[in-house]
Amino acid sequence: MTQRWDVIVVGGGTAGMPAATFAAERGARVLVIEAAADVGGTLHLSTGQLSAAGTRLQAQKGVSDATDAHYDDIMRISNNTADATLVRLAVDHAAETFDWLQDNGFVPLDEHPVLGKAHEPYSERRYYWGIDGGLTILETLRGPFQAQVDAGQVAVKLSTEVTALVTDTKGAVVGVKTKGPDGDATIHGENVVLACGGYSSNGQMFEELSGFPQYFNGAYPYSQGAGLRLGESVGGWLRGHEHYLCGYGAVLDSDTIPAGMTVRPLHHPTMRQPWEIHVNVRGERFVQEDVDSVDVREHALLAQPALRRWVIYDDAIAKASPPQFADGSKEQEAAFFDTHPMFTKADSLADLAAATGIDAAGLAASVAAYNAGIEKGTPDPMGRQHRPLAIKSAPFYAIRVQGTSISSTVGLAVDGDLRVIDKNNAPIANLYAAGELLGSGQTMGGAFCGGMMATPALTFGRLLGQRLLTWEDRAAQAAE
Ligand SMILES: Cc1cc2nc3c(=O)[nH]c(=O)nc-3n(C[C@H](O)[C@H](O)[C@H](O)COP(=O)(O)OP(=O)(O)OC[C@H]3O[C@@H](n4cnc5c(N)ncnc54)[C@H](O)[C@@H]3O)c2cc1C
Repeated sequence: MTQRWDVIVVGGGTAGMPAATFAAERGARVLVIEAAADVGGTLHLSTGQLSAAGTRLQAQKGVSDATDAHYDDIMRISNNTADATLVRLAVDHAAETFDWLQDNGFVPLDEHPVLGKAHEPYSERRYYWGIDGGLTILETLRGPFQAQVDAGQVAVKLSTEVTALVTDTKGAVVGVKTKGPDGDATIHGENVVLACGGYSSNGQMFEELSGFPQYFNGAYPYSQGAGLRLGESVGGWLRGHEHYLCGYGAVLDSDTIPAGMTVRPLHHPTMRQPWEIHVNVRGERFVQEDVDSVDVREHALLAQPALRRWVIYDDAIAKASPPQFADGSKEQEAAFFDTHPMFTKADSLADLAAATGIDAAGLAASVAAYNAGIEKGTPDPMGRQHRPLAIKSAPFYAIRVQGTSISSTVGLAVDGDLRVIDKNNAPIANLYAAGELLGSGQTMGGAFCGGMMATPALTFGRLLGQRLLTWEDRAAQAAE
């Protein structure tokens, strides 16, 4: 392997693979340094839901869409908290990314594109994923990536970690230091692309940057935040702390941090209307449980102590309501109350409160107000419409649900050309970044916008590959 590369890509995952592929297709000599034993990164785990406006598939299915509409949706859903420049860059080039994936064999599900339900829906059908989620994307990326490896344009160092950046006397990045099976090395390159993911598997960093404990870790084990620290080490800075958001929650298996996940309740009213009420540790209801907006529910939970809620119901509801968990049966649900620490059953509301730690007076008041609305036919205090049964027949039930997040909110600051910038917003020469290490707060703001992690990672990687200057480009520029 030559030790002078046009492009060094740190991390061969969602952003890194297209960065390397596209740079190599332009004739660049590329080195990919990957900490894991295989390329692919978070695509090994990701649901892989993508969003793109103006795709060929939309046109074939008669969906009329525009990048402006995608942009407007993201700014609306994020309440204008997403980074306008990066969102624009992402959505303006998302369709080219999606079409390129399709050209290389990516097959979305038959009914796609869809509006989606897991997050706040878009105004148009521009949401797609394959049968195996992220793995469908990864298998697609492998073809063109391997072609460049076979052509000798891309070299890959697996099981090798980048531990530091190398700079010249002016502070320009000129290479990386690595630790791998062959020992430690210093490798020089014209451009360094940080594409080594977020910090969501690093509990300490997660708590430090997100401001909440890492209640659950569903992220790729190599998402240790290396890229953020590498960027900071040469003058980069982090942004997006204010954008942390949790999902509406899951039932965890213990109080260990991080804990495992047992089940995820169905909370979207189009999947299951709520029969129960949701309360916080003070026993207060905090959201209209049947509100259509996913985002409203998520932000309501974000404001509760320890991002925690309890689902409260009684015997009549237990008997009459449909199952609460995706793919779960009523029998499985009932069995949890005999074995699981997050499932509590008691003969009175007061005993339920005592066993769960919920404030007894608060819980009694919330249930009384909810029941009174149903019995008198007056509006629900939270504005809820679906109120099939009052909560009054013992035994009473509580299920503790924890708000969690698996993505990295905070990230390394870059400019509109994906150059890592210093505290004066000046680019750090030769250093670029793409993917989750930019932070979800840039492409989604303080909200979850469908597909706006994986799609920008692929797109920004691709754009860097298409745009980075090779050594010959620079020599030609200097000669002009
Ligand atoms: C369970 C799950 C579901 C998700 N679902 C969706 C979804 O449906 N839609 C969506 O838009 N987003 C989703 N996401 C988020 C999205 O998949 C990720 O943000 C995106 O894949 C990250 O891409 P990346 O290139 O930044 O990182 P990765 O794909 O993780 O690549 C980073 C690579 O860098 C390597 N690396 C790390 N440190 C070093 C180092 N020091 N030296 C060398 N290599 C290093 C890693 O091993 C890894 O291979 C999901 C995430 C998870 C965990």
